[in-house]
Amino acid sequence: MQALTDSLGRIHTYLRLSVTDRCNYRCVYCMPAEGMSWMPRQDLLSYEELGRVVGVFATMGIQRVRLTGGEPLVRRDITRLVRVIADTPGIRDVAMTTNAHFLAPHADDLAAAGLTRLNISLDTLRADRFHRLTRGGKLSRVLDGIDAARAAGLVPIKINAVVMEGENDDEVEDLVEFFSRHAADTELRFIEYMPFEARWHRCVPARRLRERLARRWTLTPLRQVAGEGPGSGAGPARTWRIEETGLVVGFISPITEHFCATCNRLRLMADGHLRTCLAHEDTPSLRDLVRSGATDADLEAAIRAMVMGKPWGHDCQLEGGEVFEGVMTSVGG
Ligand code: SAM
Ligand code: SF4
Repeated sequence: MQALTDSLGRIHTYLRLSVTDRCNYRCVYCMPAEGMSWMPRQDLLSYEELGRVVGVFATMGIQRVRLTGGEPLVRRDITRLVRVIADTPGIRDVAMTTNAHFLAPHADDLAAAGLTRLNISLDTLRADRFHRLTRGGKLSRVLDGIDAARAAGLVPIKINAVVMEGENDDEVEDLVEFFSRHAADTELRFIEYMPFEARWHRCVPARRLRERLARRWTLTPLRQVAGEGPGSGAGPARTWRIEETGLVVGFISPITEHFCATCNRLRLMADGHLRTCLAHEDTPSLRDLVRSGATDADLEAAIRAMVMGKPWGHDCQLEGGEVFEGVMTSVGG
């Protein structure tokens, strides 16, 4: 098998699938309050089309797939897609990133279908603030979803918290305390806010958060596990253990400590466009190729050509630089 490499020699083993651009929430850092125009349903890749495309990716060395969006749990019968992907030869890990609002009733079925891991987004533990930041979300639903994921054995659970200055940065210690109770099967990750076109908030650099936590707890840096850490290119989080509680805390810092040099990920948008880099719009739609009768060999050749054109990285900085294009929900955050 010939690996899926780009012109810089980065090998791609990880595919994020945005299965829908729709969402039941409207988080302030992710979507505008109104005026979203959704992709027409017929433009979305069907589960059969997604299964075929993932199969082609798997023959090129993609081993891990993450379903994201938009909110993956608003797409009908998502469990069926999880099963299709989990059954694809070569795929050894099927994960999902979700806001967990609809998770509780589906956690067992998702686990039975072959889902291996869950990342759950949670930026605040205050119900009123949660309602405001998600524009209408209900904190108790998410906490129930987290409990259900644990009960279904979908562990370890990674909690993703986007930190914005003046919005929720006062809760960093509270989040550590809260999830320390579940240190055995939960990792808490703080994510730097990324500027997307019109949605401006202030990013809190990861280093500043670490310094704050270090005033209260003893932080030990963890050696990145082979295949999982930034050095291996597989995962962007740099992790520390809080010695007093055992909680592992990760920092994903796309702005101040970006990880483009080892990026091994590709993003397939819900309408079949492949984004080889978050910061760049590119590539024709794989959906159009599939629907025009392309063979698997045609698809492979098209994918290899797109990956070869992957840019080196982004130039987004704390003050200035570029902002990302589009919305996270169609790109697949
Ligand atoms: N709806 C699901 C969720 O919220 O987990 C999956 C899609 S969401 C776009 C994926 C991740 O992107 C979430 O963890 C969210 O917090 C993060 N995200 C969205 N907009 C972001 C931004 N501007 N900067 C940093 N992270 C962002
Ligand atoms: Fe929806 Fe997730 Fe974006 Fe929030 S971050 S609006 S839950 S897609």
